[in-house]
Amino acid sequence: MEERKVALITGGTRGIGKAIAIKFAKQGYNLILNYVSDKTNIQELEDEFKQYNIETLFIKTDVSKFDDCENMVKQAIERFGTIDVLVNNAGITKDNLILRMSLEDFEKVIDINLKGTFNVTKNVVPYMMKKRNGKIVNLSSVVGIVGNAGQCNYSASKSGIIGFTKSIAKELASRNILANCVAPGFIDTDMTSILNDSIKENIYSQIPLKRMGSSEEVANLVYFLAGEENTYITGQVVNVDGGMVM
Ligand code: NAP
Repeated sequence: MEERKVALITGGTRGIGKAIAIKFAKQGYNLILNYVSDKTNIQELEDEFKQYNIETLFIKTDVSKFDDCENMVKQAIERFGTIDVLVNNAGITKDNLILRMSLEDFEKVIDINLKGTFNVTKNVVPYMMKKRNGKIVNLSSVVGIVGNAGQCNYSASKSGIIGFTKSIAKELASRNILANCVAPGFIDTDMTSILNDSIKENIYSQIPLKRMGSSEEVANLVYFLAGEENTYITGQVVNVDGGMVM
């Protein structure tokens, strides 16, 4: 029997990350799903993922902490022996105008979104290099491309992820490791549920498709870029945004 492929998805227990996890589970990948919150109900998630007949390892790790990420990757390798796909999805927002933004909120967003992407990738890449095979997909955002008032911390982190991804795509191509960014626009998750109706209406008016995207629509693109059919796309940023940014 062919060995199952293995995907590590950070922030894989809810929102876009969970939709990505389900997409890979349906394709028969074993999964390592990372999360950070004490509120996450692992028993419920374990029961839910049983239906896919794959193995799922849930690991609580703060991606902003390098040593914890090293430990998470070690545990993943001990359990599955390999990591074929890494999706750096974990991310937060702490929005404010620059005049009101605290240094703490600026640093927190950079530490989780950008440094977290480095922390996990740095620990996974040696195993992919040894295998001369791997796919990395990093979640950026359209605001990492065009900026957004009230999100200088978040936009900077998402722009940083684009530069990071292009650089590692160049470094790792010779080892057959492909790295790309997915840049979602306005997706219906907990992250956007905090916005009030008038802000949402205003955003819809800027989206040619006049609606939010779903987590599944993002997951389909991530799966394509990280799956076996992608053999020649690397270093790219692909938007999934209903035409919001062209
Ligand atoms: P979400 O619903 O708020 O979920 C965020 C995920 O990140 C959760 O699983 C959370 O874990 C995890 N996480 C947060 N801090 C972490 C940390 N320090 N260590 C490990 N995991 C951590 O967000 P989402 O909307 O699905 O967004 C997923 C990704 O897409 C993010 O990178 C986001 O920036 C990007 N994105 C989203 C949108 C959008 O419109 N929603 C648009 C563009 C880009 P817990 O469940 O344990 O808290």
